[in-house]
Amino acid sequence: MTLHWRSRLIHPSATAPAGFRSLTVPTYRGSTTILEGAADVSDHWDHTRSPYRYGLFGTPTTLELAARIAELEDGKHCFITPGGQAAIALIHLAFLGAGEHVLIPHSIYGPNRDLASRMLTRYGVEVEFYDPLIGAGIAQLIRPRTRLVWCESPGSITMEVQDVPAIARAARERGVVSALDNTYAAGVHFDAFKHGVDVTMQALTKYVGGHSDLLLGSVTVRDHEHFQRLGDAHQLLGMGASPDDCSLALRGLQTLAVRLGQLEHNCLSVASWFSRQPEIATVLHPALPSCPGHDLWQRDFTGSSSIFSVVFEPRVAKRTVIAFIDALRLFKLGFSWGGVTSLVMRYDAPKRILGGQPQLVRFNVGLEDARDLIDDLAQAFSAIRARRSRARRAAGKRAGRRSPPRP
Ligand SMILES: *Cc1c(COP(=O)(O)O)cnc(C)c1O
Repeated sequence: MTLHWRSRLIHPSATAPAGFRSLTVPTYRGSTTILEGAADVSDHWDHTRSPYRYGLFGTPTTLELAARIAELEDGKHCFITPGGQAAIALIHLAFLGAGEHVLIPHSIYGPNRDLASRMLTRYGVEVEFYDPLIGAGIAQLIRPRTRLVWCESPGSITMEVQDVPAIARAARERGVVSALDNTYAAGVHFDAFKHGVDVTMQALTKYVGGHSDLLLGSVTVRDHEHFQRLGDAHQLLGMGASPDDCSLALRGLQTLAVRLGQLEHNCLSVASWFSRQPEIATVLHPALPSCPGHDLWQRDFTGSSSIFSVVFEPRVAKRTVIAFIDALRLFKLGFSWGGVTSLVMRYDAPKRILGGQPQLVRFNVGLEDARDLIDDLAQAFSAIRARRSRARRAAGKRAGRRSPPRP
């Protein structure tokens, strides 16, 4: 059949020579995948049972990333999602239904808390928050209708290290699924499955991506029934991820070990320096004894990462902390973390930290030289100290005018 050139644009016979053996995974983009025969048409997501059916369930690039994350985390199956928050939503929606109950630590990632309290409740799920340091005491909170217990360790912003093995054990004994947000540990510094967790997720956006240029998430499991539930929900929710982003994540994986090593070193240098500053009440870094749950971190983790928080002394006013942050030059003000650039973010401390009075500042330490980062922080402290002494001198002068010195 000779084709018009218009048709040949769509159905070419030209092809590149075969046999290029790249070290990298090709980026396969595609919505449609061509099926074998009309008798064999179905749209099932499960690639362990049927061949590729539709791009939304993953192209070879997506599935290669999924397989490598599963291997790294010592899981069996992994789903890639469009972001970390999508991975969180997938877990909630796969395991919960109306009239059922979920337990979530107070220290959970904020958007996870908001999804549960603002959206799951609308669908009739009962949401209960628990003390992140509860440990085996979680057993008392598990009800007949409890279906899911979340952990995140260390917690977002407040950094409490949880007794994940005790919580996962209590859940398992009662037939409840345990889920862990393992983003801090990059899926490697804490072995979720060895410690008894059923479902583990990561924001690949953070350490696996590692360069602040992509958004992806992962959900990994070992159990076949969990795999089926998640796969079904993944398909129904349309959680396809961009193969281009997956390709960047595959590249990020190759340098994860060196980046994590340097980030850990830099972060510890900066966090230790902070614990010697008079304006700071406490430093929340899991490798420092001042962090709640530090002993659990020593017991269960093989390393620490790039984020920590500091709690300012309650006497340091919010406007002073804002001035401190605005004086920083290398630390940029922005959400997310795990990339190469140092970042900073301010929060009002929650009630459980010194009664909720002080200011809490979270740092992500990047790959700059640690001495430059410390110099930057030192100049920002100098700026607020100079402000304070200027203010004190001015107040002294005003007081002096009101009451003349005694003779
Ligand atoms: C950033 C983050 C997420 C969400 O990841 P996105 O890719 O930004 O949606 C989830 N959990 C934790 C602990 C995070 O820090």
